[in-house]
Amino acid sequence: MTDTVILWFRQDLRLNDLPALQAASRDGRRVLPLYIFDEDSPGDWVMGGASRWWLHHSLSALARDIEDQGGKLIFRRGKSREVLGDICKSTDATAVYCSRRYEPWASEEEKMLHEDLGNSDIDFKRYGGTLLHEPGNVMTQSGGPYKVFTPFWRACLELDRAEPVPVPDVTWSTFTKSDALDDWQLRPTSPNWAASWEEYWTPGEDGAQQRLHDFLEESVSRYADERDFPAEEVSSRLSPHLHHGELSPRQVWAMCEQKKLETPASEKAIKKFQAEIGWREFSYHLLHFFPEIPEKAFKENFADFPWQPDKTRLERWQQGQTGYPIVDAGMRELWATGTMHNRIRMVVASFLCKHLLQHWRSGEDWFWDTLVDADMASNGCSWQWVAGSGADAAPYFRIFNPITQGEKFDKHGDYVRQWVPEIARLPNKYLHKPWEASKEALEEAGIKLGSDYPEPIVDHKEARQAALDAYEDIKGSN
Ligand code: FAD
Repeated sequence: MTDTVILWFRQDLRLNDLPALQAASRDGRRVLPLYIFDEDSPGDWVMGGASRWWLHHSLSALARDIEDQGGKLIFRRGKSREVLGDICKSTDATAVYCSRRYEPWASEEEKMLHEDLGNSDIDFKRYGGTLLHEPGNVMTQSGGPYKVFTPFWRACLELDRAEPVPVPDVTWSTFTKSDALDDWQLRPTSPNWAASWEEYWTPGEDGAQQRLHDFLEESVSRYADERDFPAEEVSSRLSPHLHHGELSPRQVWAMCEQKKLETPASEKAIKKFQAEIGWREFSYHLLHFFPEIPEKAFKENFADFPWQPDKTRLERWQQGQTGYPIVDAGMRELWATGTMHNRIRMVVASFLCKHLLQHWRSGEDWFWDTLVDADMASNGCSWQWVAGSGADAAPYFRIFNPITQGEKFDKHGDYVRQWVPEIARLPNKYLHKPWEASKEALEEAGIKLGSDYPEPIVDHKEARQAALDAYEDIKGSN
């Protein structure tokens, strides 16, 4: 009888360039494709609302792709260890293959599975494919982990990279006992804040490939010079596809190399884009070696930072009601689309931690729930980067000025006008600081500050000084 191998899909929702699938389908073995919705094992890191919406659509797409090939993706809800144990028993599977994950809870689970399944003579194997380089393959000369991005990335660039692999010929298992995906109710209902997201996103492998193709055809040549301008929409918007594994970084890399050959003039822009993929690698590398990063300040002195938790301040930030237009535009873009431009993420994060003195973890939590690309590694590392407490972080005293950031990166006001329409009629001169507009200018634009749009939640200069004073408390300690 032919052996059955369970291919346990996790954050690798694709068929192309999937080393675990290559291995599982070798020697004509039957492959049983399985996804387990496990709300137990991640503990506090159970998937947020926006990610669940994405997951629903991505799993639907994967199920269709597998069906087109004659197979059936099996859905099960429950604790992964228990579900895998059950299915191994009922199918006589001899092996479970999956792609490696790097979140501390997931690595722990993999260790336990190794033991559980090993005890039942079931072969449990984990494969790469989620990163360009496995953590541990990129180390300093003295054998330690890199803590600074530039030398890390330089070292990565010197390593060989395997080429992506196509979908293999697969003999799919005939096992069919599955939950119905709709019963998991992954899409939000009250409120259905994802109502219009299908206008912005096409989750699934085809959507990911199309997005990469369009980005390389239409925008990459402008990437280096224009990526910081949110109204330009020049960045790739690949992050949710990469996060859910609908596309591998090796595929992105290979397409970029090909594009460099076709259009040598775009080489600089493409390298810049590849370095951003490098930041994703670096975040995973940090998470692997410093697993507390999403929860605890990397720089120890920040443990004593005098945060001032304040529910009202946090809620006004979450709702895009701070009175600082560039911050409010970003927070509303996030709610409306499940994403936010990178430059604006830095501005709103700095505003929360420094102007409002709220703990970076409260912003990290909000992003975790509302971003379609919510990622334990990139989110945790980026929040710590902005807060000043992370590895290779921005210096604490680099406090983004929400007025000049707006004036510089949204000079013509297109971004703010899109997301904060109530102030759209203000002239550019006042768009990023409505409180400086004269009574007449406000009247002409049809705005009453304090009722149509909020007065600023804090005074910029005073808040900046308060943030610097707070830092004085911990500066010397370590
Ligand atoms: P592009 O500019 O096209 O970059 C290409 C890819 O590189 C991205 O898709 C992403 O995978 C990776 N990348 C780019 N910048 C970074 C970065 N700074 N760190 C890690 N990877 C990067 N990114 C996430 O994927 N998930 C998160 O949860 C997340 N949270 C963030 C929180 C804060 C406070 C900040 C400042 C940044 C965060 N980022 C996060 C990083 C970055 O903002 C997004 O990856 C980027 O905006 C996604 O848009 P894009 O795909 O158009 O990026």
